[in-house]
Amino acid sequence: MKALLEVENLTKRYGDHTAVDGVSLRLMPGQALAVVGESGSGKTTTARLITGLETPDSGRISLDGAPPPGPRARPAERLAHARRAQLVFQDPATSLDRHQRIGDAVAEALALHTPLRGAALEARRDELLDQVGLDTRQARSRPRTLSGGQRQRAAIARALAVSPRLLVLDEAVAALDVSVQAQIVNLLVRIRARRPIAYLFITHDLGIVPFLCEDVVVMRHGRIVESGRSADVLTDPQHPYTRTLVDSVPRPGWKPARKADPR
Ligand code: ADP
Ligand code: MG
Repeated sequence: MKALLEVENLTKRYGDHTAVDGVSLRLMPGQALAVVGESGSGKTTTARLITGLETPDSGRISLDGAPPPGPRARPAERLAHARRAQLVFQDPATSLDRHQRIGDAVAEALALHTPLRGAALEARRDELLDQVGLDTRQARSRPRTLSGGQRQRAAIARALAVSPRLLVLDEAVAALDVSVQAQIVNLLVRIRARRPIAYLFITHDLGIVPFLCEDVVVMRHGRIVESGRSADVLTDPQHPYTRTLVDSVPRPGWKPARKADPR
């Protein structure tokens, strides 16, 4: 099978600081890969490079056979890349317009990225909102009247409207209470069980990883220091840095529906 995402020797510098330093990774269609590391390890920069929000200094990115749009790319190329990968941020306020009702935000994404119109578009909007567990009252609400978890559900529905092959989740559950984290993680597990979608799940919290991702890479100072199956890396970390991360994992205060399928 052909890789969905191939990243080779990616490097990004800010001034004399190297935020991403020779990162290589591969993601197969439908695979869930976690990227873990402490704050400042280069996770967000990696996500922004993959989704085309930043341009690398060197290295190669291929997503579904195409590179991310460069700074001078035409709008059509940006739209095409948005259909390959969608980014969900820690703070949903970043991806949701505060004046826009949640249902309208999802409908807008459908109108922009799919041929659906009229009743068919509305049906798809309602289906997406239902899939993320938002009811019709919440669909008519603006972001600020919803809870953090509901806002993140809305951001996920909006991202799914595009039918991306890859969802990049950058600390998407970091700002939520532990019980709400579990709900969102379980939601992501269910979403992947019913459609072909790959996750690049970025987190500083190694404890969440095995519930969602089969595989993990550990980043430190812009480099990948360890990679492997989540179950192996968590139970038998090889790099001393990974060991400190594993030792700092608190006992999970929530019960996930099930662990991620080993593929
Ligand atoms: P993480 O997401 O793992 O916390 P980041 O990718 O955000 O890490 O940052 C990696 C390093 O790059 C940090 O030292 C950060 O300060 C630096 N950095 C990130 N973005 C910028 C930027 N736009 N300008 C300057 N430095 C940046
Ligand atoms: Mg970050």
